[in-house]
Amino acid sequence: MLLSRRSFVTALGLTGAGVAAAPLVGARGHEALAAALRRGDPAPPELVLAGRVVRLSSNENPRGPCAVAMEAIRGAIGDGSRYPVAPHDELRKAVAESLGVGEDHILLGCGSGEILRLAVDAFTGPTRPLVTAAPTFEAPADRAAVLGAPVRAVRVRDDLRLDLAAMAAQANGAGLVFVCNPNNPTGAVHPAAAIADHVRRVLATSPRTTVLVDEAYHEYVEDPAYATAIPLALASPRVVVSRTFSKVYGLAGLRVGYAVARPETIEAMARHRLDNPVNALGAAAARAALADRALPARERQLNREAREFITRFFESAGYRVARSETNFVMAHVRRDAKRFQEACAKRGVLVGRPFPPLDTHARVSVGTMDEMRAAADVFRQVLRA
Ligand code: PMP
Repeated sequence: MLLSRRSFVTALGLTGAGVAAAPLVGARGHEALAAALRRGDPAPPELVLAGRVVRLSSNENPRGPCAVAMEAIRGAIGDGSRYPVAPHDELRKAVAESLGVGEDHILLGCGSGEILRLAVDAFTGPTRPLVTAAPTFEAPADRAAVLGAPVRAVRVRDDLRLDLAAMAAQANGAGLVFVCNPNNPTGAVHPAAAIADHVRRVLATSPRTTVLVDEAYHEYVEDPAYATAIPLALASPRVVVSRTFSKVYGLAGLRVGYAVARPETIEAMARHRLDNPVNALGAAAARAALADRALPARERQLNREAREFITRFFESAGYRVARSETNFVMAHVRRDAKRFQEACAKRGVLVGRPFPPLDTHARVSVGTMDEMRAAADVFRQVLRA
């Protein structure tokens, strides 16, 4: 059932002064509607038109680019007629310096999505399978399917962590093992020692296999047992780490990601890349955001508060939530995930797509506190139905 506009606004907690003080999503009118229709967003057009849709479906940063990134974007517009060679090189230098590695260890991409694709293109093929998890971020498996590479998908454990032992057991003869840490969509974090042990096991049984560790949500993690796999990538040409500016840095629409690996591994992947994968605005924004040293901690805290709020909501309503150190949570809603998604969308709250085989779990991205309060009201109605 559709909410009337008034009751929807009430559900969003936006009555009275709140309407002016806390707009959830700027009303973007027809452009927003056209974009939503193009994307196939399942929210009712009248809510989209009113700018009343809460997007908790793609693990985006709800706060947008930081102030210095916005300023850098404005400053870079004039260079829009030039190929972005210098912006690319400057960003690569800045990323390398921020990590304390050589520039030849960094490969920039059109989002980390391009990096994942380059790894699949470079290391898998019809006789070199991909080992991945179920569920995990699907892009590598989707690309492997295009290339005709066999996909060995290992179900996550009951605690929603990757089954690293079973994945290592599948690695013999594989071209690539995809390890998403923390894992999207389950949010599970794997300790540094477990990742190092996994890499050791894979390379001991299958020395020509490459391990790709996707750290898209790295900056959100607070678990002291976790650490980046970059030291493993510096030590072995068979390990690649991917990172992105789309999450904590809030630049998903500007498409900047990167790989960290040994130069020979970077070269093998770079053969498959676009000529100019990073655009001038994205490069300028990413460099400015990276220089904003206080950004990750600031974002981590805001994200943690909103994540804890929505976790408490589900748990107090009697639904389990997997421990997450990311900007999303996976709640066991104990009903069909697709139906839950559709029912929330009808009320203007977009949550993640179903992630088989976890067909009764819903992935909810972490928005602002206002968005999470509004979403909780909608979830309460849907779960009661
Ligand atoms: N890896 C993971 C685990 C993701 O969740 C995503 C996007 N949600 C990506 C990679 C790709 O993101 P992007 O291309 O924006 O860097």
